[in-house]
Amino acid sequence: MNIDPVNLTADLIRCKSITPKEAGALVLLEALLSKAGFECNRVDRGLVSNLFARWGSGRTLGFNGHTDVVPVGSINDWTVDPFGAEIKDGFLYGRGSTDMKSGVAAFAAAAIDFVQNSPPDGSIVLAITGDEEGQAVDGTVALLDWMNENNEIINHCIVGEPTCPENIGEMMKIGRRGSMTAYFTIRGVQGHSAYPHRANNPLPIMAKLICDLTSFELDQGSKHFDPSTLAVTTIDTGNLANNVIPAETKATVNIRFNDLHTSKKLSIWLDKVTKRIASENDVEINTEIQVSGESFITALGDFSDLISNSVHLETGIYPEASTSGGTSDARFIKDHCPVVEFGLVGKTMHQIDERVSIDQVYKLKAIYFNIIKNYFA
Ligand SMILES: [Zn+2]
Repeated sequence: MNIDPVNLTADLIRCKSITPKEAGALVLLEALLSKAGFECNRVDRGLVSNLFARWGSGRTLGFNGHTDVVPVGSINDWTVDPFGAEIKDGFLYGRGSTDMKSGVAAFAAAAIDFVQNSPPDGSIVLAITGDEEGQAVDGTVALLDWMNENNEIINHCIVGEPTCPENIGEMMKIGRRGSMTAYFTIRGVQGHSAYPHRANNPLPIMAKLICDLTSFELDQGSKHFDPSTLAVTTIDTGNLANNVIPAETKATVNIRFNDLHTSKKLSIWLDKVTKRIASENDVEINTEIQVSGESFITALGDFSDLISNSVHLETGIYPEASTSGGTSDARFIKDHCPVVEFGLVGKTMHQIDERVSIDQVYKLKAIYFNIIKNYFA
């Protein structure tokens, strides 16, 4: 069949699949994969549509990606129709062109070509979700739940998110930092600013708390990870009166942590610090914690070597094995099998005029083809 990954990306861009809308993107993939002999199952949960497609049986190479996209933002700032899939100066434009309809298209095209030209002794799975950019509750998690219920196994998995900073081939991701957010509320005593001794102002106490948290060195990094970080994302009081000491103030911090920590250990640390500040200053501090994912490292060894060699074959570069960046659905898949993330350059992800180099999409298809070929060699 020899599928053109750029045409397929363009067809997917024309589906207005703003998360969690399916908008025809999975229908299109399902039709294409079914025709090529993949057994397709729609795994829909809540408002979300997902697709599980398997070719063959036995030892399985999996691919995970998403067809949902973030909203376009201010449409007047775009120089093209965000869903028009216009090609200009060697770039294909459109929302989702890099994140990550091109990745899905490149793998689907490589997999279809491969099974048709040299059917492997084994199996290829595409687990495509429509809920990566949203809550990520009914997306890859739903696919993994469905797989467990139906004894569907993947032995190794590639996640096709953009991973390269400048040039294709530079970077793969072999793990991710964990992410957690703490929401603090300090309750003091309201009062007249002329009589501060009759009040207990929560603002300087919040300043102390934030100062103690940000000045603490969590670690100096580990073998595969950068140092953990804590960022203050907001401090809010919303007090408009200049003669009133407020009763309450709130702040939020986000922690990105490496494999020297767990969210549980960090929660205990936060609890210790807040308890001390609260008792020293005679206030109540309420803390709410939300964990987006634990840090993990996976698949260093045969599988990451295979990917590295496959990338080198096409680009002449051995990708750096990195754990940088935000979270991805790899955080769910790592409990199922070894997972490595590899995709193209992600510079215009989520931006106005998102675009992908056409040349890179063909390169990515060739790299995925090499990976599949080497996996079954
Ligand atoms: Zn993405």
